[in-house]
Amino acid sequence: MIVVAFYLAVSVLLFFVRPSRSWQKWIVSISGILLLVLYVSLPCRIYLPFNVYVQATEALHQRNERNLLISQQDPFVYGAKRDHIPADKEVYVLIIDESLRNDHVSLDGANYRITMPRMGSLSSLTRYTNYYANGVFTMYAVPMMVTRATPETFALNYREWGVQQAFSECGFKTVWLTNEAQLVSDGVSDYVARGAEIIRVQRDMDMPAVVDSLCNQHDKLFVIMHLWGNHQFYINADENISRYLPDVTTSDAVRGEDMYNNAYDNCILYTDSMLMALTNVLQKKQGISQWIFTSDHGEGPIGVHGGAHGYTYPYRSEYHVPLMIWVSDGYKAVYPDHVNNMKRHKEEPVCADHLFWSLLDMADIGIDSTLQQEGMSVFGDTLLPHKRTLLLPDGKSIMSLED
Ligand SMILES: [Zn+2]
Repeated sequence: MIVVAFYLAVSVLLFFVRPSRSWQKWIVSISGILLLVLYVSLPCRIYLPFNVYVQATEALHQRNERNLLISQQDPFVYGAKRDHIPADKEVYVLIIDESLRNDHVSLDGANYRITMPRMGSLSSLTRYTNYYANGVFTMYAVPMMVTRATPETFALNYREWGVQQAFSECGFKTVWLTNEAQLVSDGVSDYVARGAEIIRVQRDMDMPAVVDSLCNQHDKLFVIMHLWGNHQFYINADENISRYLPDVTTSDAVRGEDMYNNAYDNCILYTDSMLMALTNVLQKKQGISQWIFTSDHGEGPIGVHGGAHGYTYPYRSEYHVPLMIWVSDGYKAVYPDHVNNMKRHKEEPVCADHLFWSLLDMADIGIDSTLQQEGMSVFGDTLLPHKRTLLLPDGKSIMSLED
């Protein structure tokens, strides 16, 4: 890797300088060596452009390792079961947003300008205030959200199928609904969605109609929606919904920090509108329904060329992400204890490690006792202490998120 880095550094210099005299060649050579020294000295690996190179090579390595492990896997069984199966129709939805920072999500404008006004009007919505992602790349974060894998046991996500498999074992129709744009972004759907039907749509706003149709076909339904959301470069918006202008989608002016901020927030307004449409679909069904909304990871400084995430030492805004839970009246009637517990825990420190267990518990699904972990569900009586950590972009290093 070091040799390649040196070759690249000198190549870039040669390309720009095109030395013709011997003293120029000396300068290029010395500069190349200096770049090499900078590269191998650790602090430099976290800065542009070196961090991009380091992370890209590490991610490529991880992807190759992943493909090898996945090819060796047999179907996984959780031994899932439910002690009590409600007679009503049931619909559960996990919505995974992209690159959404918690500090830009405002339901009422109290701490930031309003970006989710429709969610602010929902009475049965609970917002968690201290929820962290456990990865800052999609390819690490999403698998850990839907499997038992944590930053310490990341390889588990290759061996064990996603939570949809447990729902499937309990008779649910399971669907992984994803924006087509994710195909070029994550590359994880192919294996993380194992066992579920994969449906791709062109726009996030197409998803509520798909859920509506699925509800009409299935009495027991579990859907994971993977949005394009706030992924850079913040063009996932609708001009009829956007309210912060100018932004990068509506103006040809020089793109400054304000325009990126506006564009980022307009994407949240678009997601807010989609969530409202989804909620309306579920409310009309009048059965047991619930959705959980969160983001795979957050975002670093937004004003920098349309934002980025996955810094070697991530910003807090890259892992402090929103977690919101909406429950229908039908759900409250059947699972009142779950709702009370979930509201009671809303300010406790939780993270994506809790998501898998909460999704199971949400529908009262138990799995084989050898796989079970207690005290990890936000719907449970007690949340046991849990150390929050972050899997860094190299796919191996772990950062503690404890204060
Ligand atoms: Zn992502």
